[in-house]
Amino acid sequence: MQIQFADDMQEFTKFPTKTGRRSLSRSISQSSTDSYSSAASYTDSSDDEVSPREKQQTNSKGSSNFCVKNIKQAEFGRREIEIAEQDMSALISLRKRAQGEKPLAGAKIVGCTHITAQTAVLIETLCALGAQCRWSACNIYSTQNEVAAALAEAGVAVFAWKGESEDDFWWCIDRCVNMDGWQANMILDDGGDLTHWVYKKYPNVFKKIRGIVEESVTGVHRLYQLSKAGKLCVPAMNVNDSVTKQKFDNLYCCRESILDGLKRTTDVMFGGKQVVVCGYGEVGKGCCAALKALGAIVYITEIDPICALQACMDGFRVVKLNEVIRQVDVVITCTGNKNVVTREHLDRMKNSCIVCNMGHSNTEIDVTSLRTPELTWERVRSQVDHVIWPDGKRVVLLAEGRLLNLSCSTVPTFVLSITATTQALALIELYNAPEGRYKQDVYLLPKKMDEYVASLHLPSFDAHLTELTDDQAKYLGLNKNGPFKPNYYRY
Ligand code: NAD
Repeated sequence: MQIQFADDMQEFTKFPTKTGRRSLSRSISQSSTDSYSSAASYTDSSDDEVSPREKQQTNSKGSSNFCVKNIKQAEFGRREIEIAEQDMSALISLRKRAQGEKPLAGAKIVGCTHITAQTAVLIETLCALGAQCRWSACNIYSTQNEVAAALAEAGVAVFAWKGESEDDFWWCIDRCVNMDGWQANMILDDGGDLTHWVYKKYPNVFKKIRGIVEESVTGVHRLYQLSKAGKLCVPAMNVNDSVTKQKFDNLYCCRESILDGLKRTTDVMFGGKQVVVCGYGEVGKGCCAALKALGAIVYITEIDPICALQACMDGFRVVKLNEVIRQVDVVITCTGNKNVVTREHLDRMKNSCIVCNMGHSNTEIDVTSLRTPELTWERVRSQVDHVIWPDGKRVVLLAEGRLLNLSCSTVPTFVLSITATTQALALIELYNAPEGRYKQDVYLLPKKMDEYVASLHLPSFDAHLTELTDDQAKYLGLNKNGPFKPNYYRY
């Protein structure tokens, strides 16, 4: 398939100073502090007590247009990026396909995402397509220091390190936006903090901005709120709700990472275990498929009769949590809701029951209710707490109720490749769109591009698509090159 890039397609009371107190009445988003375990890191943040902000560092070309933990780690970071490239062939092929065209020539992208080997592949792809990039981290814990160093060594203006303070977090964002002689014309955000900062501190920047691409549920929600209030002043692309992103991030990624997260923390054997999964949406379906395949006996709780019926058709027993809470070995929440597992449920669990959350941030399990004097907390491993009742019963709480897979396992590079490709195409689309195609509103990635993201990943599997004949295309009323489904189609 050929894509034609050009046509087809808080109030801040005081700016935080280096040493200043917290001066922001709006703090960073939940996603920026959710713990997140990045891939193998050669270094930790304690290797050097001096703040990167106090250090004078230059890369081998003499540039000091960055702030990272230690530029000397660049070589290790480069190897991490090369490993990630192996499973991100879609981005590499995008680089090749768009090489001559340079669809991002002239684009000045300010980005705020996790800074890991996988996002480095995205950033370097954007640069290869012609963009200039300045980048900060959307999460204070997730930066791979050596990857940030490798990016800085390659000439990307990156301001990020693992273990930033809240003050550092905003300082890094500010260094990306506020630069003499350089003004961003595109934003790539994950969580909405960067967008928020530009709105509050540098609203004039929006005069040049052609569009915002937002990756997270939280950030997208904020954009819709801005749009509703009539305050969104540029077009924005919601990539979170692209079909490819939803299916891979929610369904397939969770199908793999639920097992990884549980194994790494508890060494549990799944065969024959009784597991209750709360919520049979995309995440729940992924978790259940994996657990069933390993011989676990899986129960589902649901509020929605359609999802409940799907669970029945897939061979699961649909129950109320109360009905099984005394007998299950593992409880997993994936509802996006709050207080799905309450203190009452926790009181009734059997000894050694494992409790974890795969759904929303940290709201699904009422962890606060466990912070009472009669219960003892024992940290038995990183991210694993035994909560002990007066009679000696222990409940095994993972990641303090935060997202198990993000806290205790890694996300497969291939899944991140899909997301990164979606982000790259959304940037290309917004940057090249003719005047008037997009108004000051929030848009989904055009279906054809969603399909293109998928098609770029098919060669990894040597998958061969069937082409419609002219006759068939006419019969179905489709263009032979897509889009192949209407927007309302449910995959
Ligand atoms: P979804 O809407 O498809 O599924 C959630 C399901 O939970 C729905 O079917 C809903 O009916 C059900 N539900 C709601 N309240 C319930 C309750 N009290 N008891 C039982 N069922 C209930 O959403 P999804 O795509 O599966 O995502 C679920 C959550 O997981 C979201 O918060 C999402 O942000 C998060 N998420 C996590 C990861 C991860 O890596 N862990 C990845 C993607 C999404």
